[in-house]
Amino acid sequence: MKKMLVIVTLLVMVGSLLISCGGDSSSEGQSERMRFVTIGTGGLTGVYYPAGGAISKTVNAKQSEYNLKATVESTGGSVFNINAVMSGDLEFGIAQSDRQFQAYTGEAEWEGNPQENLRAVCALHPESITLVAAADAGIDSIEDLRGKKVNIGDPGSGNRGNAIDALATAGLDWETDIQAEQIKAAESAKLLQDGRIDAYFYTVGHPNGSVMEATAGTRPVKFIPIVNVDELIEEFPFYAKSYIPQKLYPKAANDSDTPTYGVKATLVTSAEVPEEIVYIVTKEVFENLEDFKQLHPSFEVLSRENMLEGNSAPYHDGALKYFREVGLMD
Ligand code: GLU
Repeated sequence: MKKMLVIVTLLVMVGSLLISCGGDSSSEGQSERMRFVTIGTGGLTGVYYPAGGAISKTVNAKQSEYNLKATVESTGGSVFNINAVMSGDLEFGIAQSDRQFQAYTGEAEWEGNPQENLRAVCALHPESITLVAAADAGIDSIEDLRGKKVNIGDPGSGNRGNAIDALATAGLDWETDIQAEQIKAAESAKLLQDGRIDAYFYTVGHPNGSVMEATAGTRPVKFIPIVNVDELIEEFPFYAKSYIPQKLYPKAANDSDTPTYGVKATLVTSAEVPEEIVYIVTKEVFENLEDFKQLHPSFEVLSRENMLEGNSAPYHDGALKYFREVGLMD
């Protein structure tokens, strides 16, 4: 019996040696090697970071089956993520739908430099252009920002451009009419509580940790309505009216929902990323959507259908393959 075991063990060892030295070893070895992809997100207290975490958690649940491991990186936001995906530093990035459109068509930060290799995977949660002000700063409307210290966000963010557009609709030039700070939005809560700014813009899903932090401090804060956006929405079809539900932030000094406008968060990649990888990511998120939605309250509204709305760059072949397979697309 013992002899038998030794022989079997030896045979197995020789067998596996033969396999690993076999003629076609390079391609076989390759397909068994773990592949890594990184998803660019945003500040730790925003929604992109947990959204990236939710995507990687969902994909990594089948890590051994696919030999694919997704990790998340905290970044400055949409603009940084698109640029990093385009340069090949990141495989995936979360980006606002308006930024996806502008990058692909060569507008705004990408003026004259269209990112033709940018590819959409799917849309995620809605984001609202959120104007948070200290209740003691004498700000009741966006016009009242004149002369105030306002954080519009860092140059890598998507929200900086939205803040500039929103100010312009109120007749304010961000360079001359306000004292603009360009610091990462996730730091705004602390800046506001420390009295270093009067207000800040953040294009973000709700609820989120950053606004929670801002409303939980000793300095009372409130949301400021952004209205008169009809023209803006007409000019830029990726904008839509939205509101910030009062019930999500009971500590804010508002007694009703705050009207504003918004965009969508989307997941983007590059045409250079292999079809199989994008197929796996798309498939795992869509097939596990009900569990995925539990991972963050701003995902509550997601559906297979609305995750195909708001993208403007062409879909990546890997995403298309999945959508066609399940009949979401022809
Ligand atoms: N929309 C923001 C941006 O791209 C990021 C929001 C978030 O991190 O949730 O700048």
